[in-house]
Amino acid sequence: MRKAGCRSMANAALSSATRTSPFSIGSYKRISKEDERDESCSITNQRAIIRSHIATNPEFSGAKITEYIDDGLSGSRSDRDAYQRMLKDVRRGAIDCIIVKDLSRIGRNLIDVDDLLMNYLVMWGVRFISINDGYDSYTHPLSNLELAVINLANQHYNRDLAIKSMSAKLTKIKHGEYLSMPPYGYKKSDTEKNKLVADEEAAEVVRLIFSLAVNGVRTVEIAKTLNAQGIPSPSVYKVNNGYKNIWTQVIDPDYCFWSLSVIRKMIMNEVYLGKTVANRFKVAEIGSKTTIARPKEEWTIVPDTHEALVSEEDFRKAQAILPKQRFYDKPEHIFGNKVKCPHCGHAMTRYTRNNPRFKCGTARVTKHYDCREFSITQSAIAEVVLESIRTYAAAVLDREEMKLALLQKNTATAKDLEDRISKEKSAIATLNASITKVFTSLAAEKISTDTFLQKKNTINNAIERKQRIIGDLAENLRTITEGRGAVEKAIAELTPLLSIEALDRELVDSLIDKILVHGENDIEIVWVGLF
Ligand SMILES: [Zn+2]
Repeated sequence: MRKAGCRSMANAALSSATRTSPFSIGSYKRISKEDERDESCSITNQRAIIRSHIATNPEFSGAKITEYIDDGLSGSRSDRDAYQRMLKDVRRGAIDCIIVKDLSRIGRNLIDVDDLLMNYLVMWGVRFISINDGYDSYTHPLSNLELAVINLANQHYNRDLAIKSMSAKLTKIKHGEYLSMPPYGYKKSDTEKNKLVADEEAAEVVRLIFSLAVNGVRTVEIAKTLNAQGIPSPSVYKVNNGYKNIWTQVIDPDYCFWSLSVIRKMIMNEVYLGKTVANRFKVAEIGSKTTIARPKEEWTIVPDTHEALVSEEDFRKAQAILPKQRFYDKPEHIFGNKVKCPHCGHAMTRYTRNNPRFKCGTARVTKHYDCREFSITQSAIAEVVLESIRTYAAAVLDREEMKLALLQKNTATAKDLEDRISKEKSAIATLNASITKVFTSLAAEKISTDTFLQKKNTINNAIERKQRIIGDLAENLRTITEGRGAVEKAIAELTPLLSIEALDRELVDSLIDKILVHGENDIEIVWVGLF
């Protein structure tokens, strides 16, 4: 038996010859960050190429053209709005031909392209044209193998590009260019590209912090002093100086204070020695947004890239005021920074000696909030969290099981839909066979051209009607099966949580947004909206 895919391709080729109604074309354009500098990739250029292709092919005369544009997103992502909208239009029968400039517009990894080609071309009989690849599913059906090769080439291209842009960045950094947002105390030079120069107002504060530290003033006293003097904290200072507020953590935009961790990070930051420190984090995997910390040996440190705000000797002396437990050396713990003070919104400080405890450090540096000065052990929090997870899981499980019971009633409907789809499909097969017959009759001169055209139109319209019906039925079927799949998955995930005995970081991350400690016996858990 031939594969369904091949059969549909053949059907598609046949309906090309017999088609009379104009196409409904989806003209898809995408520009990604890596395309930005390449004018040939611009939306305008993609549009011009597609328009000219449509205009020069008479079979597209009278075609209805819908534009779908995804702007500025990377090809490694598939959750593109316009693209998803186009696929939806395919499913509801509003689009029967997709045209792109080249295959990498669809995506630069196997899954995206494969999904389009296998599911949409084959299942929905959509015509697909990739102009620069010389590919038209009506005239040149590619084998799966050929497609895989093209796809893989695209995937490599993506990876190459990531490596290339990384090494280009490193070269710039090594030549003294500072590519990130300038650290507090510096600004970018007006004359030299990406060169850091001292931002005098903030640089004065940096020097003050180091001179206090050199004289043995502890971080908590430094923070307290700066807050008491009303000196704007780095995030407030940057916002005041026209930088976009990238610190989404700013809880209270009217009052942003110097915290212990800001001071600590500054005292440890070698940027104030005139060095550029880069590569402290790496992307977990290409295309992902998650970054992970690199060990210090892997950092890129370039000396003498800009003016130092502190001498080597003072920098070394300043380190003495930091607690023995260095910030970057802090071992990972199950709660990460999720344990928060409900008053100031900041993560509570974790004391790691023996039995770890959490305490809000804000009250020590500012009295602006009603932070309470008490500490709570990690084990006490863990106990509450475990108990809550079990209760929460039980409650959500009840709800999901009720949903499943309702969905199971729909099983009959799903079966019915499947039957109707396969009936429509075999009807299409019969119609296709009759087109071949009509062709044969014409070739054998048994019927006139007029009769041929008339019959062909009738059959063709019937096929299109049936394809549209299949589209609607399949959409309904998907809603039922996907809904049930999601509920079953949730139940499978929740059940083990009913008897959970120990916490780990991964579980905490997947379930909990934050843990607000109102008091020793008053802990509020904010769940990630998973279920
Ligand atoms: Zn607090």
